[in-house]
Formats: sequence, C-alpha cells, structure tokens
Amino acid sequence: MQTCYIGLGSNLDDPRSQIARALAALAAHPSMELVCTSSYYGSKAVGPGEQPDFVNAVAELRTALEPLDLLHALQAIEQQQGRVRAVRWGARTLDLDILLYGDLQLSSSELTLPHPRLQERPFVVVPLAEIAPELTLPDGTCLDRLLDYASREDVWRLE
Ligand code: AMP
Repeated sequence: MQTCYIGLGSNLDDPRSQIARALAALAAHPSMELVCTSSYYGSKAVGPGEQPDFVNAVAELRTALEPLDLLHALQAIEQQQGRVRAVRWGARTLDLDILLYGDLQLSSSELTLPHPRLQERPFVVVPLAEIAPELTLPDGTCLDRLLDYASREDVWRLE
C-alpha cells in the first residue's frame, strides 16, 4: 500500500458539488482508502481567456494500485463527471492529478511524479500543507518552505 496525495479542481457546473462527488467516488473505490481531505479552497484560473474561479482540494489516500492504474482510475472518475478535454488549461468540470505517490519519482510520456507543477501552485501547496504539514517531497523540499512562498491572494479558504 502506498500513501498518495490527489489534487482536485473544478471551475464548471457547480464546482463544489463536483469536488464532493469526486471525493465520494474516491471513498467508494474498491482499491482506494480515503484517509483525509483538506478544506475547499478558491483560486483564480490560470489559462486562456476569462474563466470562473476554481474550487480546489487535496485528498490523502492509500492504495495498492500501481501508479498508471491509479491515473486511469482517476481519469475514469473525470469522465464519469463529464469532463471534456477541449482546451489545454481551459475550464473543466473536474481535474484530478496525482501529486505524490509515496516517494516515487518517475517521468514517462503519460505520468510524471511528483506532479511537475506541484511546487509552483499555491492552490496545491496550501491544501496539501493543511493535511500534511510535516511533508517532505522526494527531492528533500519541505512543504512548509513552499508555503512561505505561496501567495495568499491566489488561494483562499472557502466556508
Ligand atoms: P490535464 O489536462 O492537466 O488534466 O493533464 C492530463 C494529462 O497529464 C494526462 O494525460 C496525464 O497523462 C498527464 N499527467 C502527467 N503526470 C500526471 C500526474 N502526476 N497526474 C495526472 N496527470 C498527469
């Protein structure tokens, strides 16, 4: 079993309920054990054109799935929630990313671990630090150091 951190994001079709449904799908998955989830956060969209704000969260889970099988399981949940891959960085009903898979470091055409943009995204760093404040990334970076650089204007905790 590996401890993994999953980043969730949505900015279309009632984002809060998209995140809630995705968390329920993770909890119900026969090969995953949902350990804990962060609060919900709001963040400004980065990407083309005018887009609604995102709702983001991070979940900790334990799984025996291999990394690619976990990615495919997450993509199946995205599809179930109507995700259409149209524009890169565009608006989406649901985005699920594997942020960390234990201490595994991997780079292939389909999957990069840790997630390549983890460290530069306040909407990932802030919720991750809420549930795993002591975490050290596989390259030795302490999460609390990243938190110092994460701008609080870019991400805010939702009620
Ligand atoms: P996006 O459109 O941002 O959701 O990007 C999805 C693509 O990123 C997928 O086709 C994956 O193959 C790829 N990818 C690479 N590394 C990861 C990762 N750690 N978690 C999720 N997707 C990844």
